Amino acid sequence: MTGPLRQARIELGAVRSNVAALSERAGDAQVMAVVKADAYGHGLVPCARAARAGGADWLGVALLEEAMALRAGGDTGRVLAWLFGPGEPRLEQAVATDVDLNASAPWAVAEIAAAARAAGRPARVHLKADTGLSRAGATADDWPGLLDAAMRAQAEGVVQVVGVWTHLAWADVPDHPTVGLQLERFAAAVAAAERAGARLEVRHAANSAATLTRPDARFDLVRPGIAVYGISPVPDLGGPADYGLRPAMTLSARLALVKRIPAGSGVSYGHEYVTERETTVGLVPLGYADGIPRSASGRGPLLAAGALRTVAGRVCMDQVVVDLGDDPAQAGDEVVLFGPGDSGEPSAEDWARAAGTIAYEIVTRLGPRVERTWV
Ligand code: PLP
Repeated sequence: MTGPLRQARIELGAVRSNVAALSERAGDAQVMAVVKADAYGHGLVPCARAARAGGADWLGVALLEEAMALRAGGDTGRVLAWLFGPGEPRLEQAVATDVDLNASAPWAVAEIAAAARAAGRPARVHLKADTGLSRAGATADDWPGLLDAAMRAQAEGVVQVVGVWTHLAWADVPDHPTVGLQLERFAAAVAAAERAGARLEVRHAANSAATLTRPDARFDLVRPGIAVYGISPVPDLGGPADYGLRPAMTLSARLALVKRIPAGSGVSYGHEYVTERETTVGLVPLGYADGIPRSASGRGPLLAAGALRTVAGRVCMDQVVVDLGDDPAQAGDEVVLFGPGDSGEPSAEDWARAAGTIAYEIVTRLGPRVERTWV
């Protein structure tokens, strides 16, 4: 078999159809496909295009450089970027290239306003309310100060307050009491902004989990991320297929070596795995430097030589070993770590369980050495 030694194959049709499914689920609300962190490891620009083709009205990113990369990649639609610190040098360029910006504090409004003056055009701003996550956003106590700063900048003509938004702490547990409480606080923040004179285009609160499970959190716009890539945000409640989603990424490698080893052989560092009888082992050329979690040592699942197996012993920097028993295999054979399941391969969620983490971390941590192929 030929082809890349290690590859993450990304099905852009899945990204497109996942966005379409989310859009249908969201009803009248617009969809912002969250493409931060290199589209959750799936490739920023190709996935952004696929998301637009699926009907994404907006794209969401954390960093301004991610927004700039979208513009450099040819995206001219609405983009919201939400994470920057004081003195951010890219603010003026963000305003000049029509990127919507978050403000969580008066200093951010002041810096956006200065960037807008320098760019010679008003900046569109979304004011973030901290309704209970205690992460970004202004608390209820700080909300009047943020509103005051924003409305003054709007009166000067350098800022347009187009959005009020928040983020939920327990969206993956849809009936958790804090969800309703956060939505109540959000309603209060929106009402205060409107009383202050903001003419809001979009109010938004829902990530993937809330988009799929809390119609009352959808407002004018939903912001799904993980579901865009076909991974369930609520794996304990339902898998991707239950929500009309298809996992977009397949991670595979070709065996770099196959050999027989005797019974009683310790395998990989620390010999945590010892063969019970003579067996065939295969060398899978992916390791923790590629994002394969070391915490999945002895547990990470893979489809190899026609059967589901687990990583034998510890995950190394560049490789893992798999015990193939007496099944026929040769160097170059494909091993699939995770994918949509068409051939019975594990899912990214299976890897997350094996590693004691979440599927978000499995896909976003895939390293740059893993060749991405978009189909
Ligand atoms: N909105 C914000 C502010 C986020 O930080 C994220 C991602 O963490 C999302 C939306 C998308 O979340 P999810 O991937 O759970 O849908």
